[in-house]
Amino acid sequence: MEEQQDVIVIGGGIAGLTAAALLARHGLQVTLLEAHYQLGGCAGTFRRGPYTFDVGATQVAGLEPGGSHARIFKHLNLEPPEAVPLDPGCVVDLADGTEPIRLWRDPERWKAERQRQFPGSDRFWSLCSQLHQSNWAFAGRDPVLPIRSGWDLLQTIGALGPATMASAPLSLLTVGDLLRISSCSEDQRLRRFLDLQLRLYSQEPVERTAALYGATVLQMAQNPQGLWHLHGSMQVLSDRLASAFKRDRGCLRLRQRVTRLTRQGEGSGWRVQTECRDGSPSSFSAADVVCSLPPQCLPTLIREDEGAKAMPLGYRRQLMQLDAPSGALVLYGAVRRDALPADCPGHLQRDGESPGSLFVSVSQEGDGRAPIGEATLIASVFTDPGIWCQRPEADYKAHKRGCQEAISHTLEQWLGFSPDAWRHQELATPRSFAHWTGRPNGIVGGLGQSPRRFGPFGLASRTPLANLWLCGDSIHPGEGTAGVTLSALMACRQLTAQRGRPLKLKDS
Ligand SMILES: Cc1cc2nc3c(=O)[nH]c(=O)nc-3n(C[C@H](O)[C@H](O)[C@H](O)COP(=O)(O)OP(=O)(O)OC[C@H]3O[C@@H](n4cnc5c(N)ncnc54)[C@H](O)[C@@H]3O)c2cc1C
Repeated sequence: MEEQQDVIVIGGGIAGLTAAALLARHGLQVTLLEAHYQLGGCAGTFRRGPYTFDVGATQVAGLEPGGSHARIFKHLNLEPPEAVPLDPGCVVDLADGTEPIRLWRDPERWKAERQRQFPGSDRFWSLCSQLHQSNWAFAGRDPVLPIRSGWDLLQTIGALGPATMASAPLSLLTVGDLLRISSCSEDQRLRRFLDLQLRLYSQEPVERTAALYGATVLQMAQNPQGLWHLHGSMQVLSDRLASAFKRDRGCLRLRQRVTRLTRQGEGSGWRVQTECRDGSPSSFSAADVVCSLPPQCLPTLIREDEGAKAMPLGYRRQLMQLDAPSGALVLYGAVRRDALPADCPGHLQRDGESPGSLFVSVSQEGDGRAPIGEATLIASVFTDPGIWCQRPEADYKAHKRGCQEAISHTLEQWLGFSPDAWRHQELATPRSFAHWTGRPNGIVGGLGQSPRRFGPFGLASRTPLANLWLCGDSIHPGEGTAGVTLSALMACRQLTAQRGRPLKLKDS
């Protein structure tokens, strides 16, 4: 049994690392427990021969001044990672023979593009723009959502402005409703484009994505926000946060898979049991625990036989009934660069039935991911995790082979290269993600940003279990490295406020 820490953070993805680094900077004694031998989780990387592949996240939001990563880096006295802005942020091919849509970084250029691509849609976009501006100002003032205490309420009231109050009644609407309000709902091409983009960020299509959430993510590629490509690999984001954590005397324990959380007794915090790679058990204790794992893990970590005192039955039921998020199939490939189109953008999306809509990231020459003259090509598509995790082995392997062939064949046809251009290919399924990230069934992303789950109606970082806090992509404001960073900040502010010395970012 180790000495009692102030805080144990579970999970060393971007959410857990951000929380751990902020709390250590704040002067607390923090231990970070990570199951893998490497940090980063869904925003980590792995190497294959001369190639470096980003496991999940390939592009980053929030690096612009005032963006969520930029604010945290500034507070931690860290240099932001080297990155180039993506312009276009993405090129979306509806696969219907029409010209692909380019999401230019310059707002005026993007306006001209969408006027040409979606004539008559100006009202929809200007409504989105108004909502986005009020959302952004509100988010920048660090509200706490959903509200679960008087302190949370005060923070949220402090973040409200007249524009947020005006847009609040729209919180029950979907992006589909915004299309109807703007008389654009019959534009099937616009709908298809929005469905493709929204699923990437909210896991939901037009008719189920909350209007306030959708309005913002539809404008993430443009100045003054924007999307970025990191030099080297996505791992630099985790490495920077880990360096701040260690500098501030945080204790990092890799290869420690948390297996159980137990209450130590009324008001005396938590005992956290872990299992090392070789199966040997360890135990840690702390006054507070910040858990960055998907909340679906909690009912297993806090066992039912501990009784309702450890976890109220209503909360256990709520966690067990959360909607099942998607899984992903990801093809990690490398190709001869001269086989790709000369003006091949860094990020592309293509609609399709089988294997499904593909999101593709192509490395840039000299960005550290592939030798000169070659490119890594990462293509992902959503899938139902259930059908992968329960298959018998032989069936699983055959299905995996079939999907890999379908994805690589689609890429060859779409980007116009022949099979001999491939230098490397492997496919990750939800089983691989379960293994790499410890996520149940290999689920990826958060809870889906429908009006029922968005912001005030989501799962709270402040749990009904004293001294247990949540962060990560199921907590407001949702998935993506920029989103989980904000969820970690919110949980840390609540935790430190409860301890009587609230954390305030340098620029707040
Ligand atoms: C295919 C794909 C593409 C994506 N593309 C983008 C993108 O381009 N841009 C973007 O911003 N976002 C993207 N995302 C989403 C983004 O990667 C995630 O939202 C974000 O990285 C999640 O961070 P997290 O810290 O909440 O969770 P995770 O990254 O899942 O981290 C959780 C950590 O906990 C560890 N862990 C799990 N179980 C245990 C346990 N029992 N004990 C101890 N440790 C444990 C895991 O090993 C992991 O390190 C993508 C995701 C995927 C899967």
